[in-house]
Amino acid sequence: MFKENTEILYKGTEDREGAIHPETPAIYPSSAYIIDDTRDYDFANNGGKYFYNRTANPNRDGLAEAISYLENGEDTLICSSGMGAISTTVLGLLKCGDHAVFNKSIYGETIELIEILEGFGVHVSLVDFTDITEFENAMKEDTKVVYTEIIANPLTLVVDIKAISKIAHSYGAIVVVDSTFTTPFVIKPLDFGADIVIHSLTKFFGGHSDVTGGSVTSSSAMIKKIKPSYLLLGASLDANSAWLLQRSIKTMGLRMKAQLDNAILVAQALSKNPKIQYVYHPSLKNHPQHELACQIFSYGYGAMISFSVEDNREKVDEFIHRLKIIKYLGTLGGIRTTLAHPATAFRNEFTEEELRKMGIHEGLIRISTGAEDAEDLIEDLNQALEVFK
Ligand code: PLP
Repeated sequence: MFKENTEILYKGTEDREGAIHPETPAIYPSSAYIIDDTRDYDFANNGGKYFYNRTANPNRDGLAEAISYLENGEDTLICSSGMGAISTTVLGLLKCGDHAVFNKSIYGETIELIEILEGFGVHVSLVDFTDITEFENAMKEDTKVVYTEIIANPLTLVVDIKAISKIAHSYGAIVVVDSTFTTPFVIKPLDFGADIVIHSLTKFFGGHSDVTGGSVTSSSAMIKKIKPSYLLLGASLDANSAWLLQRSIKTMGLRMKAQLDNAILVAQALSKNPKIQYVYHPSLKNHPQHELACQIFSYGYGAMISFSVEDNREKVDEFIHRLKIIKYLGTLGGIRTTLAHPATAFRNEFTEEELRKMGIHEGLIRISTGAEDAEDLIEDLNQALEVFK
């Protein structure tokens, strides 16, 4: 027996005999694993066993296997956030002097990341990917990366990922797709020619607004190429969050079906409301890429809807206050329907004139549909919309 201060550091910490095959995976928060000797260190350091948490973790690996399966990829990096996944990928693929073509309608903070890339000497062209000619004109012989989302925020414009990938590949460029808004239940971008698919797991994968994470899925060779930036930028997710995401992914198909079905019903109902000037959702026949969406989406049209009402900030606030179910949150993709106001989200970064060019105005409201009963959502929206002219 050792003395008390020594004993208490070791007492009860050994693996529990018989604790095998639990119904849910165990959580492995350990930052490191015990190494037998210097030969065992070499074995571990060459990927032979778990060794150091930033390098590899059983919960991240389990989650990676599930996401690779859903995306028809070979391997997945599990990151600390969607932005961690995006920065790991682009910083891993691009170097000083390289050229990249980015869709101009993408997540605002990804646009801000471009400034960092430019600071490192990467040349970036920002173009409209819904205009294939404009996209092709931006491609150069030395373009290394093409970056896009499939449903663009907030006007829900749909990108023809097959056509974009074909052109990009004819220049030898790598196609990176952030599919956060679409999820693998709507489209699997790798099947349409994309090389890398990224998600903010904070959104539909997590689904309960209680976890932050990101993923990068691709071929094993491509993941091997990106892995050094992942490890060196320190973008790996903690075990508890990875475990929560492992839990959430089991119900993702059920949640997505309900949320995607609700989006179609809510979009249809909003289109009939006289207070609304325009509803943006790819399920609607008047959506500019409705046909394309029908061709490339395997289920639903995304759970993101935007709509235009009168440009009056006070009334937008009154509308938000009147809503009984739907809450205003700085996120999306949860099981409960949420609302966002793009003009407010971008007010600090862009002038009113710039926002107008992006199709964003005071009266633009974005909804992320949850899994409530659709009739309740429609009634809630319709009663709150009464505040507008
Ligand atoms: N990509 C898209 C399309 C997003 O909407 C977001 C966040 O809203 C991100 C990436 C960033 O994800 P995270 O907040 O997990 O870093």
